[in-house]
Amino acid sequence: MAATSRGTTPEPPVVRPRLTVLSGPSGVGKSTVVAHMRKVHPEVWLSVSATTRTPRPGEQDGVQYHFVTDDEFDKLIANGELLEWAEFAGNRYGTPRRAVQDRLEAGEPVLLEIDLQGARLVRESMPDAQLVFLAPPSWDELVRRLTGRGTESPEVIERRLEAAKVELAAESEFDVTLVNTSVEDVARELLALMDVV
Ligand code: ADP
Ligand code: 5GP
Repeated sequence: MAATSRGTTPEPPVVRPRLTVLSGPSGVGKSTVVAHMRKVHPEVWLSVSATTRTPRPGEQDGVQYHFVTDDEFDKLIANGELLEWAEFAGNRYGTPRRAVQDRLEAGEPVLLEIDLQGARLVRESMPDAQLVFLAPPSWDELVRRLTGRGTESPEVIERRLEAAKVELAAESEFDVTLVNTSVEDVARELLALMDVV
């Protein structure tokens, strides 16, 4: 006799989401969490976005971002090379499609660190994607972190804080929220969500 009993519906196979999107307001600590995670698990693959913003001190082309001109970004869009792209606080950012597809086809977990608009686009085109929202412990702490980073002018900080209000209001669109109180804890939680540990 077969193990399946009559009258019951077989369990659907568990399909693990292979693409994880990490979003959250500027200054909440996304890059810090991802850097820590990759220090512990260097095998976790993070998509390197293209951007028209200028590099911050210490940022290297091809590492944190592919730094491109406006014309180059236009071409990436025109050639269909971006999985998604968005304008954020005066600059454009986009996810190169090919590298992500290659990893997913190889069955490897993929992590995107992108803004809210990008997260929404990914949700539309890849409904199985897992959307993770990184939230600050408080508004004041977010302002402290963004200002304390010291990489943006007061005008740019103001612009990013305006965007942060919109992003915080969209938290419920995400599958999971992680509050970035401890970088180590959040990195561990993110790894667990990605099924790496
Ligand atoms: P994002 O990538 O989200 O814009 P960053 O990773 O650049 O943010 O972090 C912004 C600032 O906050 C940095 O100076 C970073 O060192 C600091 N930071 C990040 N996570 C924490 C945390 N859990 N506690 C205190 N400071 C943090
Ligand atoms: P920053 O200038 O601080 O590195 O990034 C600004 C914002 O752009 C962050 O919210 C970051 O997650 C987002 N971002 C980075 N790369 C991409 C991308 O490829 N696509 C989208 N939509 N947003 C991105």
